[in-house]
Amino acid sequence: MSVPESDAEPEAPSPELFDKIVNLAKRRGFVFPSAEIYGGFRSTYDYGPVGVLLLRNVKDAWWRSMVQLRHDVVGLDAAILSPPQVWEASGHLANFTDPLVDCTKCQSRWRLDKLDDPDVCPSCGARGSFTEPRAFNLMFKTHAGPVEGAGHEVYLRPETAQGMFVNFANVLNTSRKRPPFGIAQIGKSFRNEITPGNFVFRTREFEQMEMEFFVPPDEAERWYGYWCDERYRWYLDHGMPSHLLRLRPHDADELSHYSSGTSDVEFLFPWGWDELEGIANRGDYDLTQHSKHSGEKLDYFDQATGERYVPHVIEPAAGATRTAFAFLIAAYDTEEVRGEERTVLRLHHRIAPYKVAVLPLSRKDELTGPARDVFDLLAARWMVDYDETQAIGRRYRRQDEIGTPYCVTFDFESIDDGAVTVRDRDSMDQERVPIAELVDHLAQRLT
Ligand code: ATP
Repeated sequence: MSVPESDAEPEAPSPELFDKIVNLAKRRGFVFPSAEIYGGFRSTYDYGPVGVLLLRNVKDAWWRSMVQLRHDVVGLDAAILSPPQVWEASGHLANFTDPLVDCTKCQSRWRLDKLDDPDVCPSCGARGSFTEPRAFNLMFKTHAGPVEGAGHEVYLRPETAQGMFVNFANVLNTSRKRPPFGIAQIGKSFRNEITPGNFVFRTREFEQMEMEFFVPPDEAERWYGYWCDERYRWYLDHGMPSHLLRLRPHDADELSHYSSGTSDVEFLFPWGWDELEGIANRGDYDLTQHSKHSGEKLDYFDQATGERYVPHVIEPAAGATRTAFAFLIAAYDTEEVRGEERTVLRLHHRIAPYKVAVLPLSRKDELTGPARDVFDLLAARWMVDYDETQAIGRRYRRQDEIGTPYCVTFDFESIDDGAVTVRDRDSMDQERVPIAELVDHLAQRLT
């Protein structure tokens, strides 16, 4: 594979960084604990006014690269609720389990494969106190309609991928795409995780960005390498520094039985390397399984060669919520400016929640009126914040902390000269730009 792996093992970011990010997320409106006025609902989170923009930008950036800019990938938005037959065929009913152990001393529950030492309870420190592991199915089950019980069970999807497989024939017949081609989807998934945690890293409700790329069997290996390269590069292209990113091929004993190759894009979280995305060469497992269970033909007839085959699948599967969190960590920076500490999120402009903030120097009507006109001018094109409270220095700091690349200040001179001050988040340089040229000026920098 042509993607370089990080050779030097860099220091993990400090654990204090984790607390700083969680604090900033709450304080600035990125992420709130869910149902907080009722004491919170464990490991469930709500995205606030700034967080919803960050998350949306991560998803939009993914969609842009994976669907908009590609002639060979189409989109899909499949249902979250699905009948047991889907999960029977996919293998999730039988195999989507984690090994659960209970500590007989303190009654805490753990996922065995995630324990540092499988004999020691991290909660009370007891040794050899665990029960035998039980296979715990991670799918949320509910029932459709007013009657509970057998025949009415449905599942919340634990991944978006199956929506693409069960719609393979529909998409093939309607989109005029032929292998190699892909179906992409972004949406919520649900897993009854035994040990959710690390803020939004592992939650029971989360968002995924997945793509199933269907290829002729003899091209699978080449496309697997291609997608590993592409996906690794996507994070770099959106501002992740290479020393916090690596592509890790799975060892043979980590591979699922149907996979002939899987690599994870990993990020150096404050607790160490952990997964952002998995890229897997899944062979013909999924289409074959659904064909067997549904009785429908899920193959492709190549008129050029006269060959009929079941396409093989390369799947890049990423987490949107987890990736948004990683972008926050990677972007967090502090520096001293004139004896004061400045916190700044150096987010790539595509990921930054707001692209611009419009700030009238004071709350006087003669400034706020025209400043709102500047807001209207820019808001037609970008997500723009408007803030007229507090001293200008404090407002700059707030925008730095939420990663806004540019602040536009309308001052008393602006009334006469028709120009505004544009301040750059990273360098803090300021320049005077005529309002008539403002859109072009920003567009050149926000492409
Ligand atoms: P893990 O080993 O961390 O449980 P996984 O290998 O089971 O994850 P996949 O099934 O490959 O994960 O899912 C694809 C992506 O979806 C993951 O790389 C991750 O970014 C995201 N994801 C999976 N589970 C969760 C979760 N509980 N919370 C947030 N994101 C998740």
